[in-house]
Amino acid sequence: MNFEKNIKTIKNQSKQAQLVVVTKNQSLQNINNIYKIGERNFGENKVQDLLKKQQELPNDINWHMIGHLQTNKVKLITPFIHMIQSVDSLKLIKKINSCGEQDERIINCLIQIKIAEEDTKYGFSIKEAKEILTTDILSKYRYISVQGIMGMASFSTNTNQIKNEFKLMKQLFDACKNKYPILSMGMSNDYIIAYQAGSNMLRVGSAIFQKTY
Ligand SMILES: *Cc1c(COP(=O)(O)O)cnc(C)c1O
Repeated sequence: MNFEKNIKTIKNQSKQAQLVVVTKNQSLQNINNIYKIGERNFGENKVQDLLKKQQELPNDINWHMIGHLQTNKVKLITPFIHMIQSVDSLKLIKKINSCGEQDERIINCLIQIKIAEEDTKYGFSIKEAKEILTTDILSKYRYISVQGIMGMASFSTNTNQIKNEFKLMKQLFDACKNKYPILSMGMSNDYIIAYQAGSNMLRVGSAIFQKTY
Protein backbone atom coordinates (compact mmCIF):
# COMPACT_ATOMS: atom_id res chain seq x y z
CA MET A 1 0.00 0.00 0.00
CA ASN A 2 1.06 3.53 -0.68
CA PHE A 3 -0.34 5.08 2.47
CA GLU A 4 2.96 6.74 3.22
CA LYS A 5 3.18 8.29 -0.22
CA ASN A 6 -0.39 9.57 0.02
CA ILE A 7 0.26 11.13 3.41
CA LYS A 8 3.45 12.77 2.15
CA THR A 9 1.59 14.24 -0.80
CA ILE A 10 -1.13 15.68 1.43
CA LYS A 11 1.36 17.10 3.90
CA ASN A 12 3.39 18.68 1.12
CA GLN A 13 0.25 20.42 -0.05
CA SER A 14 -0.68 21.65 3.42
CA LYS A 15 2.52 22.32 5.30
CA GLN A 16 1.04 24.50 8.06
CA ALA A 17 -1.91 22.25 8.83
CA GLN A 18 -2.30 19.39 11.25
CA LEU A 19 -3.45 16.15 9.61
CA VAL A 20 -6.07 14.00 11.30
CA VAL A 21 -6.15 10.63 9.56
CA VAL A 22 -9.77 9.50 9.32
CA THR A 23 -9.66 5.78 10.01
CA LYS A 24 -13.37 4.99 9.81
CA ASN A 25 -14.10 1.71 8.03
CA GLN A 26 -10.41 0.81 8.04
CA SER A 27 -8.97 -2.44 9.36
CA LEU A 28 -6.78 -2.51 12.45
CA GLN A 29 -3.93 -3.58 10.22
CA ASN A 30 -4.28 -0.57 7.94
CA ILE A 31 -4.45 1.75 10.91
CA ASN A 32 -1.41 0.10 12.46
CA ASN A 33 0.53 0.71 9.28
CA ILE A 34 -0.32 4.40 9.47
CA TYR A 35 0.72 4.39 13.13
CA LYS A 36 4.07 2.91 12.21
CA ILE A 37 4.71 5.75 9.77
CA GLY A 38 4.40 8.04 12.78
CA GLU A 39 0.87 9.41 12.58
CA ARG A 40 -0.83 9.82 15.96
CA ASN A 41 -4.02 11.79 15.27
CA PHE A 42 -6.84 9.55 14.12
CA GLY A 43 -10.53 10.33 13.58
CA GLU A 44 -13.60 8.11 13.90
CA ASN A 45 -17.26 8.97 13.44
CA LYS A 46 -18.96 6.14 15.35
CA VAL A 47 -18.62 5.50 19.06
CA GLN A 48 -18.69 1.70 18.79
CA ASP A 49 -15.88 1.62 16.22
CA LEU A 50 -13.92 4.18 18.16
CA LEU A 51 -14.10 2.11 21.36
CA LYS A 52 -13.06 -1.06 19.62
CA LYS A 53 -10.09 0.55 17.90
CA GLN A 54 -9.03 2.44 21.00
CA GLN A 55 -8.88 -0.84 22.90
CA GLU A 56 -6.92 -2.70 20.23
CA LEU A 57 -4.42 -0.05 19.17
CA PRO A 58 -1.49 1.65 20.98
CA ASN A 59 -2.52 4.02 23.72
CA ASP A 60 -0.50 7.02 22.60
CA ILE A 61 -2.95 7.67 19.76
CA ASN A 62 -4.87 10.95 19.88
CA TRP A 63 -8.43 9.95 19.04
CA HIS A 64 -10.72 12.56 17.51
CA MET A 65 -14.48 12.03 17.54
CA ILE A 66 -15.72 13.56 14.27
CA GLY A 67 -19.26 12.19 13.90
CA HIS A 68 -22.58 13.10 15.48
CA LEU A 69 -22.46 12.10 19.14
CA GLN A 70 -25.53 11.05 21.10
CA THR A 71 -25.59 12.31 24.66
CA ASN A 72 -26.08 8.81 26.09
CA LYS A 73 -22.77 7.72 24.56
CA VAL A 74 -20.63 10.61 25.75
CA LYS A 75 -19.55 8.84 28.94
CA LEU A 76 -18.07 5.99 26.91
CA ILE A 77 -15.46 8.21 25.27
CA THR A 78 -14.65 10.96 27.80
CA PRO A 79 -12.18 8.72 29.69
CA PHE A 80 -9.75 8.77 26.75
CA ILE A 81 -10.87 11.02 23.89
CA HIS A 82 -8.33 13.61 22.72
CA MET A 83 -10.86 15.90 21.06
CA ILE A 84 -14.56 15.94 20.25
CA GLN A 85 -14.80 17.82 16.96
CA SER A 86 -18.52 17.33 16.45
CA VAL A 87 -20.05 19.37 19.25
CA ASP A 88 -23.35 20.38 17.70
CA SER A 89 -25.76 21.33 20.52
CA LEU A 90 -25.84 22.98 23.93
CA LYS A 91 -27.30 19.79 25.33
CA LEU A 92 -24.20 17.93 24.18
CA ILE A 93 -21.94 20.60 25.66
CA LYS A 94 -23.62 20.16 29.04
CA LYS A 95 -23.31 16.40 28.85
CA ILE A 96 -19.64 16.45 27.86
CA ASN A 97 -18.97 18.84 30.71
CA SER A 98 -20.62 16.60 33.30
CA CYS A 99 -18.87 13.47 31.99
CA GLY A 100 -15.55 15.32 31.97
CA GLU A 101 -16.14 16.34 35.56
CA GLN A 102 -16.82 12.75 36.52
CA ASP A 103 -13.68 11.52 34.78
CA GLU A 104 -11.68 14.51 36.05
CA ARG A 105 -10.62 15.31 32.51
CA ILE A 106 -10.95 18.57 30.64
CA ILE A 107 -12.30 17.63 27.22
CA ASN A 108 -11.01 19.44 24.13
CA CYS A 109 -13.90 20.35 21.86
CA LEU A 110 -14.56 21.96 18.51
CA ILE A 111 -17.87 23.63 17.83
CA GLN A 112 -19.34 22.13 14.67
CA ILE A 113 -20.69 24.67 12.20
CA LYS A 114 -23.32 23.87 9.62
CA ILE A 115 -22.11 25.54 6.45
CA ALA A 116 -23.32 22.99 3.92
CA GLU A 117 -26.65 23.08 2.17
CA GLU A 118 -27.54 19.48 2.93
CA ASP A 119 -30.06 18.94 5.72
CA THR A 120 -28.12 15.93 6.88
CA LYS A 121 -25.19 17.85 8.28
CA TYR A 122 -25.29 18.67 11.96
CA GLY A 123 -24.03 21.82 13.61
CA PHE A 124 -24.70 25.31 14.83
CA SER A 125 -25.49 28.14 12.45
CA ILE A 126 -22.78 30.75 12.06
CA LYS A 127 -24.90 33.15 14.08
CA GLU A 128 -25.44 30.72 16.97
CA ALA A 129 -21.78 29.76 16.97
CA LYS A 130 -20.66 33.36 17.04
CA GLU A 131 -22.71 33.96 20.14
CA ILE A 132 -21.36 30.87 21.86
CA LEU A 133 -17.77 31.63 20.93
CA THR A 134 -17.59 35.36 21.56
CA THR A 135 -19.62 35.63 24.79
CA ASP A 136 -19.04 33.99 28.16
CA ILE A 137 -21.80 31.38 27.69
CA LEU A 138 -19.25 28.58 27.87
CA SER A 139 -17.28 29.83 30.85
CA LYS A 140 -19.36 27.89 33.36
CA TYR A 141 -18.46 24.61 31.66
CA ARG A 142 -15.16 24.08 33.37
CA TYR A 143 -14.54 20.60 31.97
CA ILE A 144 -14.75 21.73 28.38
CA SER A 145 -11.92 23.43 26.57
CA VAL A 146 -13.13 24.83 23.27
CA GLN A 147 -10.24 24.79 20.84
CA GLY A 148 -11.98 26.07 17.73
CA ILE A 149 -14.49 25.20 15.05
CA MET A 150 -15.11 22.35 12.62
CA GLY A 151 -17.18 22.25 9.46
CA MET A 152 -17.96 20.23 6.38
CA ALA A 153 -18.62 21.81 3.02
CA SER A 154 -21.44 20.69 0.77
CA PHE A 155 -20.86 17.46 -1.09
CA SER A 156 -20.61 19.15 -4.45
CA THR A 157 -18.48 19.52 -7.55
CA ASN A 158 -19.09 23.26 -7.46
CA THR A 159 -15.71 24.56 -6.33
CA ASN A 160 -17.01 28.08 -5.85
CA GLN A 161 -19.71 26.95 -3.50
CA ILE A 162 -17.21 24.97 -1.43
CA LYS A 163 -14.85 27.94 -1.41
CA ASN A 164 -17.59 30.25 -0.20
CA GLU A 165 -18.60 27.88 2.58
CA PHE A 166 -15.03 27.62 3.82
CA LYS A 167 -14.76 31.40 3.59
CA LEU A 168 -17.69 31.71 6.03
CA MET A 169 -15.86 29.43 8.44
CA LYS A 170 -12.69 31.50 8.14
CA GLN A 171 -14.63 34.71 8.81
CA LEU A 172 -16.10 33.19 11.96
CA PHE A 173 -12.66 31.97 13.00
CA ASP A 174 -11.24 35.47 12.52
CA ALA A 175 -14.16 37.02 14.38
CA CYS A 176 -13.03 35.06 17.44
CA LYS A 177 -9.79 37.07 17.42
CA ASN A 178 -7.32 34.30 18.22
CA LYS A 179 -9.30 33.11 21.23
CA TYR A 180 -9.28 29.58 19.75
CA PRO A 181 -6.43 28.01 17.77
CA ILE A 182 -8.12 25.40 15.55
CA LEU A 183 -9.97 25.77 12.25
CA SER A 184 -10.81 22.20 11.22
CA MET A 185 -12.04 21.90 7.65
CA GLY A 186 -11.11 19.92 4.57
CA MET A 187 -11.63 16.27 3.64
CA SER A 188 -10.31 14.13 0.76
CA ASN A 189 -12.28 15.95 -1.91
CA ASP A 190 -11.74 19.50 -0.75
CA TYR A 191 -8.71 19.71 1.53
CA ILE A 192 -6.72 21.84 -0.91
CA ILE A 193 -9.55 24.37 -1.14
CA ALA A 194 -9.91 24.28 2.64
CA TYR A 195 -6.20 24.80 3.19
CA GLN A 196 -6.15 27.74 0.83
CA ALA A 197 -9.12 29.18 2.72
CA GLY A 198 -7.13 29.05 5.96
CA SER A 199 -7.75 25.63 7.47
CA ASN A 200 -5.14 24.47 9.96
CA MET A 201 -6.59 21.02 10.60
CA LEU A 202 -7.49 18.59 7.81
CA ARG A 203 -9.52 15.43 8.33
CA VAL A 204 -8.60 13.07 5.51
CA GLY A 205 -9.57 9.43 5.04
CA SER A 206 -10.16 7.99 1.58
CA ALA A 207 -7.39 10.00 -0.12
CA ILE A 208 -4.94 8.23 2.18
CA PHE A 209 -6.40 4.73 2.14
CA GLN A 210 -7.33 4.54 -1.51
CA LYS A 211 -5.45 1.92 -3.43
CA THR A 212 -3.04 3.42 -5.90
CA TYR A 213 -2.78 0.84 -8.62
C1 LIG B 1 -15.51 10.66 6.83
C2 LIG B 1 -15.21 12.01 7.35
C3 LIG B 1 -14.06 12.68 6.93
C4 LIG B 1 -13.08 12.12 5.93
O1 LIG B 1 -13.70 11.90 4.70
P1 LIG B 1 -12.85 11.43 3.43
O2 LIG B 1 -13.67 11.88 2.29
O3 LIG B 1 -12.72 9.96 3.52
O4 LIG B 1 -11.54 12.12 3.50
C5 LIG B 1 -13.81 13.93 7.48
N1 LIG B 1 -14.64 14.49 8.37
C6 LIG B 1 -15.76 13.89 8.78
C7 LIG B 1 -16.63 14.57 9.77
C8 LIG B 1 -16.08 12.63 8.29
O5 LIG B 1 -17.20 12.01 8.70
